[in-house]
Amino acid sequence: MRILITGGAGFIGSHLSDRLLAEGHQVVCLDNFFTGRRDNIDHLLDHPGFELLRHDVCEPIFLEVDQIYNLACPASPVHYQYNPVKTVKSNVMGTLNMLVLAKRVGARILQASTSEVYGDPHVHPQPESYWGNVNPIGPRACYDEGKRVAETLMSDYHREDGVDIRIARIFNTYGPRMAENDGRVVSNFIVQALRGQELTLYGSGEQTRSFCYVDDLVDGLVRLMAAEGRHDPVNLGNPVEFTIRQLAEEVVKVVGGTTGVTYKPLPQDDPSQRQPDISRARNWLGWEPRLQLEEGLVRTVEYFRHRLKRRNRAAVPTLDERLTSPGLLD
Ligand code: NAD
Ligand code: UDP
Repeated sequence: MRILITGGAGFIGSHLSDRLLAEGHQVVCLDNFFTGRRDNIDHLLDHPGFELLRHDVCEPIFLEVDQIYNLACPASPVHYQYNPVKTVKSNVMGTLNMLVLAKRVGARILQASTSEVYGDPHVHPQPESYWGNVNPIGPRACYDEGKRVAETLMSDYHREDGVDIRIARIFNTYGPRMAENDGRVVSNFIVQALRGQELTLYGSGEQTRSFCYVDDLVDGLVRLMAAEGRHDPVNLGNPVEFTIRQLAEEVVKVVGGTTGVTYKPLPQDDPSQRQPDISRARNWLGWEPRLQLEEGLVRTVEYFRHRLKRRNRAAVPTLDERLTSPGLLD
């Protein structure tokens, strides 16, 4: 099949590209490179089945494709709050443009939704039937409400026009190719521990999240896309729940050393708990995560160790730079 991945140069999109190419599909990777990186897809650029388009989903586009994975949207709170209006546009206009395309060419479309549609949940763990508790005017609303409207658009295009939709509610996902500066907790903690810096705990550290390794998540996305007639949202995440303090301890254990923690204020509207009920994914897709946190962290730490080493090497001036910059030879 010819498969469009919007946000294909991002963290999850690049792993999804790997998986679909390995299965023999053609991948059209569309990205505006806001948080995506060439680095993530460098190894795919010469692949005969891979095509890269620099494009913003807020603008319409017409392509012949069989399936669309709509992932284009920054996922880290730091990045999605950087330009909140743009985040709303990417979710609303972006999803609308992809639905128009799906309708026109008869493609099946999967929307990357999020556990953030549950907001700061009063029901725990969260089943898909829970409608959530979201502050519509807070700093996270551009993302949470943007994703909720995206789900609404998907459902309405399905009801009105029969577009073949899938909605994945993705819970916190981590792994290689997360950006080291994107502010999410797993990348922050690993980079801090590798640099021997104190880990930044926001609030008391007693808030919880459930962390899914990226390969498991990608497997869930592919299964959901392939499942016939599953138009209702499906939670995809690892149901094992950790406090953020426990995550810090796990990271320090895997990285080694004796890094301490430093406390920072809890960001506004930061959800106090989050754990997916994955009964629907188990029943509909025969899916559940296989990799547990420690093993996933080992792989992710390995990635960041290499990346930081390369960075450090890159920071050393070349001979040419040394020769042309007075003082550097001193
Ligand atoms: P990411 O920031 O690494 O990737 C997002 C990609 O979308 C980037 O390559 C970025 O450049 C691109 N993008 C952003 N706005 C765009 C636009 N207007 N037009 C074209 N491209 C655009 O984040 P990720 O973690 O890979 O997340 C991918 C998707 O999964 C997002 O939709 C996110 O909301 C969703 N999701 C992720 C998580 C998670 O924990 N990683 C959790 C829930 C939902
Ligand atoms: N967090 C933290 N230290 C950090 C980054 C994040 O304690 O350096 C906390 C954050 O307040 C939240 C949790 O970790 O409670 C997960 O944050 P992240 O930004 O990764 O994801 P999200 O809040 O969107 O689930």
